[in-house]
Amino acid sequence: VCATPGPLLALFSADCALVGLSSPEGVIGVAHCGWRGLLSGVVQSVASEMRRLGATDLVGLRGPCIGPECYEFGADDLDLVAARYGEQVRGLTSAGRPALDLAAGVEAAATEAGVSSLLGVAGCTACTPGWFSHRAQGTIARQALVVGSALGAAQ
Ligand SMILES: [Zn+2]
Repeated sequence: VCATPGPLLALFSADCALVGLSSPEGVIGVAHCGWRGLLSGVVQSVASEMRRLGATDLVGLRGPCIGPECYEFGADDLDLVAARYGEQVRGLTSAGRPALDLAAGVEAAATEAGVSSLLGVAGCTACTPGWFSHRAQGTIARQALVVGSALGAAQ
């Protein structure tokens, strides 16, 4: 998180969801959210810290992440995530196996965190051309999410 005008915050990922948040006060924050971060409340922690720094209304963007059709998930871990965020996190792979819908989980976490609007980038990093996927490609190429404060840029 950052409440000082000027710096940009950037994160990289290649299947995990990147979340960028901002507020009218110029407080910004980013979260790298895979399933463990989702379960531990990383989005809520970032939102809470932003509010501690003076943020009021929070809006944000979720970057591209792996989709359920490509994200087979163990039943026990899926039960944990569903118990935390609801049944909407359950998905199916293209082969009909249990899967985690990470984007749905991030949306639930953002709602719980009081984020008033979260835009989501459509598409799956593993099967939508143009995105990078660690699981599908095994390379070091990553997406980047960069967040800056417009208030900072104006000063
Ligand atoms: Zn996919």
